Amino acid sequence: MVVTMDPSRRIIENGAIAIEGDLIKDVGATPALEAKHTGAETIDASGRIVVPGLICSHSHLYGVLLRGASLPITPPSDFTQILQRVWWPVDEALTYEDAYASALVACMEFAKSGTTLFADTYSGPNSIEGVLDHIARAVEEIGIRGFIAFETTERHTKTEGERGVMENVRYAKKTRGKADTKALPMLSIHASFTVTDELIRNVRNYANELNIPITIHTSEGMGDVHHNLENYGKRTVERLRDVGLLGPDVVLAHCVNLTDNELDIIKQTGAKIAHNPMSNMLNAVGVAPLAKMLGRRIPVGLGNDGYIFDMFENMRAAFLLHRAHAKDPRVTDPYQILEMATIDGARLYGKEHELGSLEIGKRADVVIVNPRIMPTPLTAKSVVGHLVNTVDGDDVQTVFVDGKKIVDNGKLVRMDESAVQEKSQAAAARLWARLEQMAPQIDSLRK
Ligand SMILES: [Zn+2]
Repeated sequence: MVVTMDPSRRIIENGAIAIEGDLIKDVGATPALEAKHTGAETIDASGRIVVPGLICSHSHLYGVLLRGASLPITPPSDFTQILQRVWWPVDEALTYEDAYASALVACMEFAKSGTTLFADTYSGPNSIEGVLDHIARAVEEIGIRGFIAFETTERHTKTEGERGVMENVRYAKKTRGKADTKALPMLSIHASFTVTDELIRNVRNYANELNIPITIHTSEGMGDVHHNLENYGKRTVERLRDVGLLGPDVVLAHCVNLTDNELDIIKQTGAKIAHNPMSNMLNAVGVAPLAKMLGRRIPVGLGNDGYIFDMFENMRAAFLLHRAHAKDPRVTDPYQILEMATIDGARLYGKEHELGSLEIGKRADVVIVNPRIMPTPLTAKSVVGHLVNTVDGDDVQTVFVDGKKIVDNGKLVRMDESAVQEKSQAAAARLWARLEQMAPQIDSLRK
């Protein structure tokens, strides 16, 4: 069952895909392709679902290191406190080794659950220069594809902000013109409440010069909104527009607390949105106005924000959350959710002509799903419902990136999975110990 995600929404029962080199050469009915492409090596995917590699539009690979951690601090009571007392201390404690080990295990989890492209933002004031090389190494070793960036912020000093910008610029210049690079450059700004207009303009200028995307957390919690109203007399998106940031190369992460006017501004400027429903629930920031975004035809991708790396779970969360919130079952449909995790994710980063669907001439990022349980018939009509309601990442059998197998029979091809986990577990244990030491100081911030 080939779910192409092409513009005509073609789903092919008894379908086949022909891959040559790193590209998709043909998509169609199996008998026709067998007759045309004789002598090709074949993979029997009978009874399976074939989809484009899933796309995670917003992530923090290092977020994986905090899974299961319980820090001895007074529990934060809102999102600003979560940043101040969890994420910012974590950022400070991160090392180059942590960046590599977390990227490795997170890329492994993405790959094994069918995600082939992600957009990552790394944050760590004590591991800035050169850190993107460590993350890129992990991306290349797993064989996945990802946009990677250092998250620039002036939380501590202006210099810290400049150093962050220059790390992104350095990596972009280093990879410029290298067509086979899997770890793609991007510019990242933490959020408008930790940077000056000057830094935002600087990032905009570099994006124009280097022709790479920009991402920024936007009105995730109310702290961002209040900061901009108090200091600039404007809401977040109004300030980002006025400073000249917004354009089709900008991906705004979250956009939970926006007015209708701000949504109109996003539409007018061509900026795009990465929606992170599971993270929004975890951080208790509220529910993003997804129906209003899609109603304006703003491109929306699906992100995990460094939380749950199985994109099938993230799809299910997006599908359900908005129904519960709106008390209206019409607000989400499975196909739209699948678009967010495939072709629209590609659109966010200007990759819709190369990735995000199974079409002739596109890169062969292909996932074969083998559902362990299929309680009802698998047909062209039911398959999208099954992808959102039945399947999860553990059902992913085979994953190709650029026509090369990176997951085979559920196992990572290029690296030993237990070695990857040993590295990340050791890094996490050391990080947790450092955080434990920092805990009294973190808690004193409350006074
Ligand atoms: Zn984020």
